[in-house]
Amino acid sequence: MAIVRTVLGDIDPSVLGNTNAHEHLFIRNGLILILEPDFRLDSEANAVSEVNDFRSHGGQAIVDTSPLGVGRDPEGLASVSRATGVHVVAATGFHKPRYYLDSHWRNRLCAEQIAQLFVEEIEIGMDAYGFEAPFRKTTSARAGVIKAASDYQNFTPAIRTGFEAAALAHAQTGAPILTHTEMGTMAHQQLALLAKHGASPDHVVLSHMDRNPDWMLHRDLAQTGAFLEYDGPGRIKYLPENAVMDLISKMFELGLGSQILLGGDTARRSYWKANGGSTGIAYVLEQFIPRLRKEGFPAQQIDAMLIGNPVRAFAFRDDRQSKK
Ligand SMILES: [Zn+2]
Repeated sequence: MAIVRTVLGDIDPSVLGNTNAHEHLFIRNGLILILEPDFRLDSEANAVSEVNDFRSHGGQAIVDTSPLGVGRDPEGLASVSRATGVHVVAATGFHKPRYYLDSHWRNRLCAEQIAQLFVEEIEIGMDAYGFEAPFRKTTSARAGVIKAASDYQNFTPAIRTGFEAAALAHAQTGAPILTHTEMGTMAHQQLALLAKHGASPDHVVLSHMDRNPDWMLHRDLAQTGAFLEYDGPGRIKYLPENAVMDLISKMFELGLGSQILLGGDTARRSYWKANGGSTGIAYVLEQFIPRLRKEGFPAQQIDAMLIGNPVRAFAFRDDRQSKK
């Protein structure tokens, strides 16, 4: 039977419920915070407050997309999930190379060695220190998604290794893959590289695609079976919300609404209401969905993006038992 793997255990995909497909609850440390201090999310109390707010607007599940090396906190995710009753799916894998020092182990190991670490995080438990301490501390929280990331219009050798490792770990575990696209670029190249190493597009979520709101590109990507995650709502510096609404409308008109997911990606302390911000983790449910309703989007389309599609996108590949 297919499962979704949360930090508190495996669940039947059908109980996942109303899902925020791209979020960050903790960014505690790392080079990423030297590059961008506003990314610092280091308060469990604030995370609980934001997730409770999300739940009060109908939210039931969050996919935390902070992988190894960018301040992830597996035990923190488990305790936020316990405190709020919201399902949390955590990520292994890598973010884009600029967030890692040259000396990081990701730049020394080969794809097969890296894949083995991803597999351990999925099957045994995530390492509390992201494999950066001189010893391991395996937590009881297991990763439920594998992250891979590319740069703007670019695929360096380090990026390629990350994608190969993600695909190998998927082939072995059946865990879904979630990618970071920079401004919605390189998605076809991501899918091709993943497929070459054993991960078919129907187990891949392409993040931030609405930053490149080219519906013809989205049509072609969705037709492969891949999922497209939109997280522009509330982040007006990238594009106005009506552009995201037009894109959603077009995708449903093309019969491809089954491939769309919505995320918040409110990964800045200044966005969180708990820190005085005006959007926060509840934003999509609290403000964007009401706009969709007001503009006449049918309930079944909204439910597909929030509830139905995430079930397929975040379920483990169902044949994995027979492969063991
Ligand atoms: Zn993100």
